[in-house]
Amino acid sequence: RPADAFLNEPPRDFSRIASRTAMQAAIGKVCSQTGHSWDLPHRELRLTGARMESRNPAHSDEVVALVPSAAVPDVAAAAALAVSSAADWRSQLGTERSAIMRRAAALMRERRDELAAWEILEVGKPWRDADADVAEAIDFLEFYAGQMDRLASPLQLGDYPGERNHRVYAPRGVAAVIAPWNFPLAIPAGMVSAALVTGNTVLFKPSERSPLMGRLLTDILHEAGVPSGAVICLPGGPEIGRALAASPEISTIAFTGSQDVGLQLIAGAAAMPPGRSVVKRVIAEMGGKNAIIVDDTADLDEAIAGVVTSFTGYAGQKCSACSRAIVLESVYDQFLSRLHDAVMSLSIGDPLDPGTQVGPVIDARAKERIEAFIAMGQQEGRLLIRRSTEWPGHFVGPTVFADVSSHHRLAQEEIFGPVLAVMKAATVTAALEMANSTSYALTGGIYSRSPMNLALARERFDVGNLYVNRPITGALVGRQPFGGHRLSGVGAKAGGDEYLPQFMVARVISENT
Ligand code: GLU
Repeated sequence: RPADAFLNEPPRDFSRIASRTAMQAAIGKVCSQTGHSWDLPHRELRLTGARMESRNPAHSDEVVALVPSAAVPDVAAAAALAVSSAADWRSQLGTERSAIMRRAAALMRERRDELAAWEILEVGKPWRDADADVAEAIDFLEFYAGQMDRLASPLQLGDYPGERNHRVYAPRGVAAVIAPWNFPLAIPAGMVSAALVTGNTVLFKPSERSPLMGRLLTDILHEAGVPSGAVICLPGGPEIGRALAASPEISTIAFTGSQDVGLQLIAGAAAMPPGRSVVKRVIAEMGGKNAIIVDDTADLDEAIAGVVTSFTGYAGQKCSACSRAIVLESVYDQFLSRLHDAVMSLSIGDPLDPGTQVGPVIDARAKERIEAFIAMGQQEGRLLIRRSTEWPGHFVGPTVFADVSSHHRLAQEEIFGPVLAVMKAATVTAALEMANSTSYALTGGIYSRSPMNLALARERFDVGNLYVNRPITGALVGRQPFGGHRLSGVGAKAGGDEYLPQFMVARVISENT
């Protein structure tokens, strides 16, 4: 392994007293700072929106922070600032920009527990998930820094007498980053750092459900040395996202979120009003309806554990989450009864408590939507489990339906909550057909000990990330570049070596020598 090879940031081991105590201390510290009103993120730009109230999903009356937000007219001023900051930023060497990303990673590492603590409060992530998100943000910064070091020097193409050919990369211009709340540090850190390290200036809209995490990321990037005008934080709702995407100044949109919004962005980017001189490129990650297949040779202990973590991790609010389990007939009943016991033993509660496995969903709107799916599921399938929750926050107990068929909405639509549809299949071939029968193609998994079935899955399971005999969430930067195709997304996988070139134009220079 070369000395500068990329290594993933290891997760905190909370079974160690020292790690637990440090995390408790960080939680204590941020809890004493909640409700604070944050100042403007940029000296050169006045944000004129109302202060956004970021609330704790586990205690909806608790205001975590008051964060300045952007109003639609601010977007034009922000875009002008991003344009005027572009020349300086792009003139730095790629290796200088990657050094700044590494500094940002180092700052995150120093503040790791504090960032995770804010994340627990702002989006209701259990300890381990919040910590993993911070670790993944560090990974993205360091991984893309390493990639940029490689791409920064011109690549010589071939070796021909009398001719010299080089490929060089240049930034595309100003990028808009429209980020989700479910990985509120890692996903924006990935999209923003990719755009920045390649030399673009960035208009960054954190989700209105996690404005504070977006703000913390912006502050860290500024502290690490990104000029204030090169990454501009514009917290706001969908109207800010629309205004950003429509800005004539931007040439790239990086988005992670729902399929509806992603498709709108793609359609909008194709419009060519008079005067536009670039086709906007959209990189969109748009969700999934992910399945795990369990065959009759599977180790059921492992399969149950893998399905349960994959469908209940962060209360099912991951694009990668399992929302269908497709189980072969001969093990179906046994699977259901063991699944029942496993789901009944999950500990649901306040994510501030280190023992909590399932916390709240993000807000009242999400809870309502998930509950509407649960009500619909009772018409379509057989309700097997519905854990109740007596908490005052936005809790939805893990819920399982059995005997769901492919044509049911429960088997087709992304729910984004802790709801699992169990489906019965006669053969592995039939299970694979069922697994592929949605418009999404993001993650998928199979539990099996049959080499033949595993070979079939490798060949036919049409997903961007296939996991064999393990849970289907938690892709690691560099090791499992992440992203789907069909209606799950367009663009290269995040955390992989094809990601950065999307933010650049390639120029080939051929010289007669
Ligand atoms: N990369 C995450 C995972 O593998 C999912 C990202 C998302 O939800 O968008 O679990």
